[in-house]
Amino acid sequence: MSITSKLPTVGLTIFTEMTDMANACGAINLSQGFPEFDPHPGLKDLVSKYIRDGHNQYAPMQGVLALRERIAEKARRLYGVDYDPATEITVTSGATEALFAAVAAVVHPGDEVIIVEPAYDCYIPMITLNGGRPVYTPLTYPSYRIDWDAFLRCITPRTRLAILNFPHNPSGAVLDARDLDALAEILRNTGVLILSDEVYEHIIFDGLTHHSLAGHPELRERSFIVSSFAKTYHTTGWKVGYCLAPRRLSAEFQKVHQYLVFSVNTPIQHAYAEFMQDQSHWAGLASFYQSRRDYFLNRLAGSRFRPLPCHGTFFQMLDYSAISDEPDVSFARRLTAGHGVAAIPPSVFYHDGEDNRVLRFCFAKKAATLAAAAERLCRIDPGA
Ligand code: PMP
Ligand code: GLN
Repeated sequence: MSITSKLPTVGLTIFTEMTDMANACGAINLSQGFPEFDPHPGLKDLVSKYIRDGHNQYAPMQGVLALRERIAEKARRLYGVDYDPATEITVTSGATEALFAAVAAVVHPGDEVIIVEPAYDCYIPMITLNGGRPVYTPLTYPSYRIDWDAFLRCITPRTRLAILNFPHNPSGAVLDARDLDALAEILRNTGVLILSDEVYEHIIFDGLTHHSLAGHPELRERSFIVSSFAKTYHTTGWKVGYCLAPRRLSAEFQKVHQYLVFSVNTPIQHAYAEFMQDQSHWAGLASFYQSRRDYFLNRLAGSRFRPLPCHGTFFQMLDYSAISDEPDVSFARRLTAGHGVAAIPPSVFYHDGEDNRVLRFCFAKKAATLAAAAERLCRIDPGA
């Protein structure tokens, strides 16, 4: 029996490919982004407690109310904005499900969706599975800032949605207040919606603050804001995230969510709700990761890799053009197999394979891991 693939050009994700290769080669894995830190013991205890106390059946479709209330409080405190826990917040199976549900809720066959490149890997398949057409606008290399004139040129009568992701994976770029105003001005008098992937909202460095689209009154009205507990609590394996959106957008979002997963696992939602009462956990995350970034960069000081600015996320881009001019995919493979350090080649995040001879390294790792990786990277000479 033959089937016609809906994703004929898609294989395993680059994250799976590089992690498999790192494991096969015994390389230090700085490719796929996941923390090498265990969740807080108090959070793990709360999950056990809620399982033992019998919170083991379906949660409400929108999410456990206590968790939606904590999320609403956080949005109010951080971004000065009110989202109604009853109608404007949905707990999802990670940010990934939220992204899919938002795209599926609003993108119709033939609609255009603006993507900012380099783009996190799931956006394009989600658009094409829903019959949409991705339209690409680049971040300007090497600052990775949005070129708003280029963005404006992408808008047509068919544009339905724009997907943004700041702090940005893979570059670590962030938005400032002027960016939000520029976006608001471009979209004023259009029907274009926004899907803002803000999973790294708490990981922003050097005294900068995260400018959530939620906090911009005009943008809020047309935006799905997606975040995840994965990065915030070192729990990528638990797959819980959420989506904030105005009532009428949330209503459409929940129509998809209820048939995609119906609801998200109950005890973990209760545990997060209780744990979130102590805001110090997310409040301390930026300095926690900034010190890891700085540690990694200090250790790399004697290497031939040139760091690009990293303002947020737990990824550091390193330019390797002083070592080799080979394409990033083959350099990443050689680095893994030959030098024992795995990283992500960002050309896979561009539809045309743009290749700036940089690699993305995850620094959400213990000091010993970063030191060992940096030592290997420092040993690499040109032509090696
Ligand atoms: N968006 C971005 C930009 C990510 O980096 C990730 C994964 N780290 C996700 C979405 C997916 O998040 P989750 O694991 O909560 O599904
Ligand atoms: N978000 C993680 C990264 O950017 C990977 C998640 C995944 O493996 N799908 O590395």
